[in-house]
Amino acid sequence: MAQFAVIGLGRFGSTASLELLRLGHQVLGVDADAKYINRLADKLSYAVIADATDEQALAELDLLRYEAVLVATGENLEASILCVLHLKNLGVQQIWVKATSKSHHTILSRLGVSRIIHPEEEMGIKVAQALNYPMVNQYLTLGNNQYLVEIALIARLDGITLSDLLGDATHFTKAVLVKRREQLFSPVAENFVLKSGDSLVLAGTLSILKTLAPRLV
Ligand code: ADP
Repeated sequence: MAQFAVIGLGRFGSTASLELLRLGHQVLGVDADAKYINRLADKLSYAVIADATDEQALAELDLLRYEAVLVATGENLEASILCVLHLKNLGVQQIWVKATSKSHHTILSRLGVSRIIHPEEEMGIKVAQALNYPMVNQYLTLGNNQYLVEIALIARLDGITLSDLLGDATHFTKAVLVKRREQLFSPVAENFVLKSGDSLVLAGTLSILKTLAPRLV
């Protein structure tokens, strides 16, 4: 369990907070508007009404004890930038910020925040990927062009072995695990017999994983 602080509890900040809580973490929620605080007050571990542009108010929150601070003050660019400056001043290391425009992004990258989030763009890419490869349930970018993908095995492939499914890609792809209801199988041998409904987690480069796509539908 870790502790996170979320500044700005609008649609983005409140969703992120609730998910962090669901994952078992503690969340301090901060918003200038009592209405937003009241809406989440009974769920948040700590809730504070404060203006994110007020350095003194931020200093009183003891933010250094949190794993990361997520700044999600929405369209309020000035608040977002001032808040980041104050957080830097206070010595906060992990600062994640939701950006709303290109200029916002430029300023944030100059300020050296840990992660700049563009929800619309990031979600747009995820949706396009899901439309392109409907059998890919989830994927994770590992860096260096390596990806981890979770594939749902369709009925047509019931009974196929892992090596038959992967074909030439066997040597370039790692089958990380197979999930069959509550059961996890790992490592996955080449002669492992897959069943319809299995979740197969593969790791490999995007180009190799793409060559597999036609076999999986
Ligand atoms: P988003 O859709 O990105 O979540 P919203 O406009 O829904 O954007 O939410 C932004 C939140 O940030 C609101 O709850 C607003 O009260 C809060 N906020 C804006 N400026 C400040 C500030 N200076 N200090 C604290 N909270 C702020």
